[in-house]
Amino acid sequence: MMRVLLAGGGHTHLIAGPLLSRRLGTAADITLMASSEKLLYSGMMPGWLAGHYDFEACAIDLRRLAQAHGLQWKMATLVDIDFAARQAIDSQGVRHDYDLLSLNVGSASPPGLRAAGSSVVTLPAKPFAEFVEAWRDWLERAPPRPRCFVVGGGAAGFELACALASLRASEGPMAGASVDLVTSDARLLAGQSRLSAWLAETTLHRKGVPIHYSSRYVGVAGNQLRLMRHPGVEFSLDADLVLIATGAHPPDWLRACANRQGIRQGADGGIAVDAGMRSFSDHRVFAVGDCASFLEQSVPRSGVHALRQGEPLSAAIAQCVARGPDATRIDPLARYTPQRRALALLNRCDGTAIAQWGPLAWAGRAAWRWKDRIDRGFMAGFDQR
Ligand SMILES: Cc1cc2nc3c(=O)[nH]c(=O)nc-3n(C[C@H](O)[C@H](O)[C@H](O)COP(=O)(O)OP(=O)(O)OC[C@H]3O[C@@H](n4cnc5c(N)ncnc54)[C@H](O)[C@@H]3O)c2cc1C
Repeated sequence: MMRVLLAGGGHTHLIAGPLLSRRLGTAADITLMASSEKLLYSGMMPGWLAGHYDFEACAIDLRRLAQAHGLQWKMATLVDIDFAARQAIDSQGVRHDYDLLSLNVGSASPPGLRAAGSSVVTLPAKPFAEFVEAWRDWLERAPPRPRCFVVGGGAAGFELACALASLRASEGPMAGASVDLVTSDARLLAGQSRLSAWLAETTLHRKGVPIHYSSRYVGVAGNQLRLMRHPGVEFSLDADLVLIATGAHPPDWLRACANRQGIRQGADGGIAVDAGMRSFSDHRVFAVGDCASFLEQSVPRSGVHALRQGEPLSAAIAQCVARGPDATRIDPLARYTPQRRALALLNRCDGTAIAQWGPLAWAGRAAWRWKDRIDRGFMAGFDQR
């Protein structure tokens, strides 16, 4: 029987796993593997940080999902893949055989963020499982009125800054904290419309969150965050906590093993895939979500796109099971065609949100209610699955 290994319990496999099980029945042995049993749903993560949702309300139980759909479940952290032998290798040295492998292991932050001897705590936003642990740990030892920075001027950085700002009014360890945002760009939400950027900037201004534009994160030293404004011009700011949300970088271990074995990668280090989400170098390997680099079309790295890859991924894998793993002909249904525009709803963590659709953007309570309804509806779907 064909062995399909779904490596990583990311947003795409949440959708593809159950669909595949329905499509293939007992025709294949399907395993879902992840390094953590719970997946924090990205759309609700900033709301969780702000204390608006309990962790359980925005975490998907992958073991339960697998069991409910007749998938094998394995909790293991992959550290390597032997593509020639068709084995995925976990941190205990166990080799997991596969005939077809789908990689949905998400992203990590750039390496080298932490500096020995610095008292500044740096917390990469991804992977979420590690962030959750590190955040809880930080709250237990946070100094009074901590000086907090968020590095990253995209949607994630903006939402994290709003979440931290909302905690300042609480009675917990973040009471009285200062929050600043640092971005290497000349404005916020660089890929979005000017109107969205303006809404985001005025939001932070109103919340008393200073924005350091055109400032590149260099590192931390002693009790300071080091930034560079122009080549060679460095400056430092006193800091206790730095949250890093500078974009999705495919994990180092995956880049290293792909490099070593000549598996083609995109310029950003993701596994290079065609529109059928299949590796150009190894037809038995699929990659989706943040760890994939689509070479035939532009696909932003976001939860929305990762989720939408679920349906075509299940169709592509089912076709490979039916036609043999080396089949090269893939039907259009098994290709991912990204929508030109996707609705984005950014949580301002104060009962309002910014809605953006192409050049249009607006903000208010209605946008937040809309976002909350979509997110809770999504999670409710997993309760019943
Ligand atoms: C603060 C923040 C807010 C965001 N908000 C939004 C939003 O509102 N909307 C949106 O569309 N996008 C949002 N994003 C982006 C979104 O989080 C990602 O694009 C999305 O999570 C991509 O998911 P994925 O499917 O690639 O992997 P993930 O959902 O990150 O899942 C990775 C999975 O792989 C597993 N894994 C990781 N490493 C290993 C390993 N070595 N071995 C085995 N398993 C492993 C993990 O346990 C997990 O199950 C946000 C990002 C951030 C940082």
